[in-house]
Amino acid sequence: MPHRSLRGDATRADAADPLAAHRDAFVGAETSLVYFDGNSLGRPPRATAARLSRFVSEEWGGRLIRGWDESWMDLPFAIGDRIGRVALCAASGQTVIGDSTTVLLYKLLRAALDFQMVADPERVEIVVGRDDFPTDRYLVEGIAAERGARLVWVDVDTTRGVDADLLDAAVSRRTAVVLLSHVSYRSGFLADGTELTAIAHRAGALVLWDLCHSAGSVPVELDAWGADLAVGCTYKYLNGGPGSPAFAYVAERHQGTLVQPVQGWMGAADVFSMGPVYRPADGMRRFLSGTPPVLAMIAMQDTLDLLEEAGITAVREKSIALTEFALRASDALLTPLGVRLASPRDPAERGGHVTLSHPAMRAVTARLWRQDVIPDYRDPHGLRIGLSPLSTSFAETLTGLEAVAAAVRAES
Ligand SMILES: *Cc1c(COP(=O)(O)O)cnc(C)c1O
Repeated sequence: MPHRSLRGDATRADAADPLAAHRDAFVGAETSLVYFDGNSLGRPPRATAARLSRFVSEEWGGRLIRGWDESWMDLPFAIGDRIGRVALCAASGQTVIGDSTTVLLYKLLRAALDFQMVADPERVEIVVGRDDFPTDRYLVEGIAAERGARLVWVDVDTTRGVDADLLDAAVSRRTAVVLLSHVSYRSGFLADGTELTAIAHRAGALVLWDLCHSAGSVPVELDAWGADLAVGCTYKYLNGGPGSPAFAYVAERHQGTLVQPVQGWMGAADVFSMGPVYRPADGMRRFLSGTPPVLAMIAMQDTLDLLEEAGITAVREKSIALTEFALRASDALLTPLGVRLASPRDPAERGGHVTLSHPAMRAVTARLWRQDVIPDYRDPHGLRIGLSPLSTSFAETLTGLEAVAAAVRAES
């Protein structure tokens, strides 16, 4: 009776889960809906509705234009520092909320490449994974065309990601910048931040980490890794809401030398001097361009509160327990139906989601969405099970995987 023992184990795991109470902090936790997509769009914390309403009536409505001087101008730096502290192990003054992930990746990649090409005209290569998220791949293509750089594509197994051996073979004294995903959006493969950063540095390259699928679920230690640059989403595990702006990290040692290409007034040395020419500000301000999206960066603060309270170490422990439990359930319920695991089996090599592969998964996903069981689908044949540690229970995970099994049976 493997099935019955799974249900008992889920109940016991929820009862023993030190973070179980945090789930009630999210809208919808009381319903029977199964949410497996917190790695694409996190659930809203309940506190967020009141926070947004208060902002509209008191700050925007009450302070009006005075709000900029009183607090809003500082908000990208204040929230950035908090993300650095609770999620990135980054000392203050290195993280800022900016534009979308796509735009921030562009700005930092261009800044890093330009710096490297000026220092050494032979360094013209950008190393990037062939299976990286589309926006990352499209950006480097555009930047290479714009700057006369060359792309070095790292071919990877789609059930893994760029690892030490692959990176070691790809970098050379011609490498200017390496763009790496910390957790692969497709497979959930978790890269070794310390080791990969060291490999890039030995070749004289700068590293830009894409943290979209790790920030808020996997410990990131940018300062300890010796990372140069990083960008990450806030609407995934940080629950900032649809389209909430991304964060950028620039190690302090680079802030005086890197200059990004979107030179707007908000990145200038003296924002309100309205001077005749652009002079980049000191510190992280120079990586901003236009007026900060204040309304869009407010919601994520509720999850930063929860993360600070729980601690990223406890979040990672629960994340591993959830993905391990999901794999056990999948082995029992789905492997007999021909479903294969398309993620690393070793939890040390896996982030917060697992991908299950079967030819019927596209139809399975559509069927599940109609039943209020919400994973997502990624080619080829991949069903992604995102297990957001603060808002997902073990019972919910099992209920969802039982529904996946029924749907695979119905669609095969
Ligand atoms: C989600 C995600 C993005 C999204 O970029 P946007 O500019 O927010 O659309 C980029 N890269 C990775 C790896 C992602 O997972």
